[in-house]
Amino acid sequence: MNISINGISDQLKNEIRDAALNARSHRGAMLSADQREFYREKIKKLLIERDAVLVVHYYVDSELQILAEETGGCVSDSLEMARFGYEHPASTVVVAGVKFMGETAKILSPEKKILLVEDDANCSLDLGCPAEQFSAFCDQHPDREVIVYANTSAAVKARADWVATSSIALKLIQHLHDQGKKVLWAPDKYLGDYVQRQTGADMLMWDAACVVHEEFKADALEALKKQLPDAKVLVHPESPADVIALADAVGSTSQLIQAAKDLGAKKYIVATEMGIYHKMKQVAGDDIELMPAPTAGEGATCESCANCPWMKMNDLEKMADVLENGGNEILIDENIRQQAEVSLKRMVEFGKKVGVTGRSSH
Ligand code: SF4
Repeated sequence: MNISINGISDQLKNEIRDAALNARSHRGAMLSADQREFYREKIKKLLIERDAVLVVHYYVDSELQILAEETGGCVSDSLEMARFGYEHPASTVVVAGVKFMGETAKILSPEKKILLVEDDANCSLDLGCPAEQFSAFCDQHPDREVIVYANTSAAVKARADWVATSSIALKLIQHLHDQGKKVLWAPDKYLGDYVQRQTGADMLMWDAACVVHEEFKADALEALKKQLPDAKVLVHPESPADVIALADAVGSTSQLIQAAKDLGAKKYIVATEMGIYHKMKQVAGDDIELMPAPTAGEGATCESCANCPWMKMNDLEKMADVLENGGNEILIDENIRQQAEVSLKRMVEFGKKVGVTGRSSH
């Protein structure tokens, strides 16, 4: 079987690192309890006035997750967020997450107004796969089926044959492999590597990574497991292979939340973004103990420490502002949107055939 990785430039890697550090320094302001209550009430009022609904990712602050559920919105992964926005009767969908999530919502709901809480909320996978470079790379490999992860721009989705979420990637690539097809996978090299090892498919890979999951360290995780023999380990497959190898459950965000319930442990070491703890406790019980898988730690090489710098830019104040002023609207060139919709809906149809809903990226 063939596996090779297409490198991205050191300059682009440095730019992504700088963008992550910059995002980290632009977290929302600390608000007093009175201020938080003020914004919560203001948002509730504006949601009604603007005929809007909140869709919030598992990784954003729990305060926003609670508000979404209180107001009839949704807390989920990116594809479910887009699907919910599409099916909900509201004319405006407010997305608390990162840019590609707003774009995915717009791809499925072109007639709706899609507002992003934080315009600069990005993703290292999306930033690590610029559409022009990626398209040129695809042109060099016309013999390969192009599959892109949900964490990509609309333009990259438009260039792909398929979009895949982490829960459907295994089945989709196995299906293509069984048909004798070769795959070009982008952008997450760790998820691609995981899928390749599971399926044995011939995969050519793009070289991007998530700044959160790439930071988890296997040696330290192994040591922690020895200290906590009762704890189960939950790992998102955007993590390095040696971290995945230590997992009791590997899966997408929705699958890890379910695993926290199904494994029945009282203690979990979690190798994904910490915002997910809120939903894990909601589903598996408030009494479970959750702790982050070890990273190199603050002040060392850790750029995230299990906190996505872009997800954490979302806050109540900015949410109230976009609702009030209609800012940060997601707009996509209609040709690109239509092409991206084809590859996205192709995945959804495949998922129905094989009994996977497509949930979730993360
Ligand atoms: S956690 Fe990683 S993959 Fe998810 S939005 Fe942040 S940088 Fe992107």
